[in-house]
Amino acid sequence: MTEKLDNLMGGRWVAGTGAGTPLFDPVLGTELVRVDATGLDLRAGFAYAREQGGAALRAMSYRERAGLLAAVVKLLQSRRDDYYAIALANSGTVKTDSAVDIDGAIYTLSTYAKLGESLGDRAFLLDGEPARLASGPTREPVFQSQHVLVPTRGLALFINAFNFPGWGLWEKAAPALLSGVPVVVKPATATAWLTQRMVRDVVEAGVLPPGALSVVCGSAVGLLDALEPFDVVSFTGSAQTAALVRSHPAVTQRSVRVNIEADSVNSALLLPGADATSEAFDLLASEVAREMTQKSGQKCTAIRRVFVPESLYEAAAQAIAARLARVTVGNPRNEAVRMGALVNRAQLASVHDGLAHLRAQAEVLHDGATHALVDADPQVACCIGPTLLGTRSAAGSDTGDRVHDTEVFGPVATLLPYRDRDHAVQLVRRGHGSLVVSVFGSDAGALALAALELAPFHGRVHIVSPDVAAHHTGHGNVMPQSLHGGPGRAGGGEELGGARALNFYHRRTAVQAGTAALALLAHPAP
Ligand code: NAP
Repeated sequence: MTEKLDNLMGGRWVAGTGAGTPLFDPVLGTELVRVDATGLDLRAGFAYAREQGGAALRAMSYRERAGLLAAVVKLLQSRRDDYYAIALANSGTVKTDSAVDIDGAIYTLSTYAKLGESLGDRAFLLDGEPARLASGPTREPVFQSQHVLVPTRGLALFINAFNFPGWGLWEKAAPALLSGVPVVVKPATATAWLTQRMVRDVVEAGVLPPGALSVVCGSAVGLLDALEPFDVVSFTGSAQTAALVRSHPAVTQRSVRVNIEADSVNSALLLPGADATSEAFDLLASEVAREMTQKSGQKCTAIRRVFVPESLYEAAAQAIAARLARVTVGNPRNEAVRMGALVNRAQLASVHDGLAHLRAQAEVLHDGATHALVDADPQVACCIGPTLLGTRSAAGSDTGDRVHDTEVFGPVATLLPYRDRDHAVQLVRRGHGSLVVSVFGSDAGALALAALELAPFHGRVHIVSPDVAAHHTGHGNVMPQSLHGGPGRAGGGEELGGARALNFYHRRTAVQAGTAALALLAHPAP
């Protein structure tokens, strides 16, 4: 039997008491490690995190906690090779795809370390200016309301998805730790190894105070039951599991604050006015092919629907298909391979099912099955070539629902023609709320107008015009400076967005007082 990964609960590394769930190499099929959370005393472990970790973090200023994040960055940087090796073995990703997770995590942490520096040596944050409630004889304010943001006195529980075991931990932990809130992370079972290793490295190096960071690898059973009123939970995963989290008594009865990042049928839109020889057209085709194949399409932000003027449907199909045809698929250990594996057999089966579901309302424009696997056994490897679907019929895009409702979590997208701009916006909106839409064109006025029209239905609008071709950060790349999350079907959550991320980990309180007391609140006596 392979090694069983320990959990970190109550400041101690503890093995589960069960046999454990094996994690596999999705290309070679070999068993790697096991995870098991059976028998953990979650209530005691959570109390330790709140009391020890929370108190130690809150005793520091924002600047001091920013220093902790900077130390985590240094430590993770020094172990990058180990993390790349785990990602290769457990996620089956090529190096550039592993970088999105590992270096993306390090970059996000560094960004919050810098942001924390700028918050200075305070113990809390002011929210806005004082508002006058009563005036004195000369109309001076004598009684005012000042809102303050203070770190919540609970812990932050992260329940994460399998596709970002590195970034998924640190994009949440950076703002939580900076806010002074201890973290318990429960990674998705399939890829828990990388998360566990990062936590182990950071904790063993003594970079964080005891109790500031804990990890539970294995089943989620009992985690939500152990939450208390001032805890917060941040969930990333499928809409189905999100519904269970939302309806748990911790949320419905104990008012545990919850943030949900769920699935999303994101779009790319080429505005009217471009032709097949334009740079905007070319930028769209490249971005769609890149988004479909990066991490084998296992990104919550990946482009799933592609909207082009109806006169460009065929040209767009050819341009995207030509790029996809060049993608070599297979064993990421082979230098010639550009796209590795899906995470496991269950995901492979789910992508096949999703494709069959979509094909009932669409035609195949590029068939992933035409990609012979490089250096990988198709009977064992969870690899699949990229497939572009398309539908010109109203039954597929106007009255049909599958293409707008189905997130196939793999290298799959569907091309859809539109008649005019209003029709395009109407079709994009049928995703019922998404994480991101990218808009391609060269008329700045038309791009800005489209951004505002699409904004109510998206967490992020990514505009690509020829002048930013070499500078834009990518449709699917989540930048810590920008909001991540989306309304409606995407879960309604908000993460990142620079300092905005800290709000989730703070309580906002109105302090009503006389001017003298409020002045001391803003500038406490040394
Ligand atoms: P999932 O099956 O919903 O699992 C997500 C997490 O929930 C895992 O850690 C899972 O643990 C845990 N979980 C399972 N049952 C639970 C329960 N009853 N109570 C509490 N937690 C429970 O999702 P996934 O397959 O890992 O991830 C793929 C999905 O995530 C896709 O739909 C994708 O769009 C979405 N996603 C969204 C974002 C975003 O930021 N919006 C980012 C990445 C992924 P186990 O693994 O142990 O079952």
